Amino acid sequence: MRKPVIAGNWKMYKLVSEAVSLVLELKPLVANANHCEVVVAPPYTSLRSVADRLEGSGIKVAGQNLCESAEFGARTGEVNGAMLRDAGCEWVIIGHSERREFSSENDALVNAKLKAAMKTGLRPIVCVGERLEEREAGRAEEVVRSQVTGSLGSLTPDEAMPIVVAYEPVWAIGTGRTATPEIAQSMHASIRRFLMEQFGNKTADLMRILYGGSVKPDNIKALMAQRDIDGALVGGASLDARSFAQIVNYPG
Ligand code: PEP
Repeated sequence: MRKPVIAGNWKMYKLVSEAVSLVLELKPLVANANHCEVVVAPPYTSLRSVADRLEGSGIKVAGQNLCESAEFGARTGEVNGAMLRDAGCEWVIIGHSERREFSSENDALVNAKLKAAMKTGLRPIVCVGERLEEREAGRAEEVVRSQVTGSLGSLTPDEAMPIVVAYEPVWAIGTGRTATPEIAQSMHASIRRFLMEQFGNKTADLMRILYGGSVKPDNIKALMAQRDIDGALVGGASLDARSFAQIVNYPG
């Protein structure tokens, strides 16, 4: 049985005071959401304030990125896994398409960040997803297969099991253009097959695969009804407590 994960990625939005207001409003709205794990990923600057307000609630905090080095050292501008833990994070998002695009992150770097996250005991959400031109060229599966195998390379099945994979087609992120539940399910089934090839059936059956890309209160139910969709990574709609709560409370 795979427990769903609903995670909100706040990207580069919200000042500290706004982040605090958002979680204070969110907390009571999702207080009874025992059917899934709820995670929010504020920017670095708000992590500690948000984590303090969420203490004792079921909502967990994630970083949006981390340094591939688990050590302390001369890496100006970087934040390592221990620092994220210290700021109240249990989770971390790795390899988001915006980082792949604007910070040139490739699968090798994503793999290094994944290992650094695991070393510091953070629970990783690893993002994969094809660009529009790759889908239109009929290469979506090939691209995602190579991202999955590259990003999750050289791990044992036991190491891979707790990793959460997020399928986020780049053409659906922030565009209002959600993949249909059927398109999403088809890629999720392929991802599970890639994970089976890499880690075996038992591990792949237990690994959670989230969908991300314009998830909203009105499409979450249909997405979650798909066999291989185990939750959602939500961008825009997670910036509003009510809409994120509606997504979290999708069973009704
Ligand atoms: C995201 O940032 O991961 C995302 C899926 O954004 P949005 O929900 O706004 O498309």
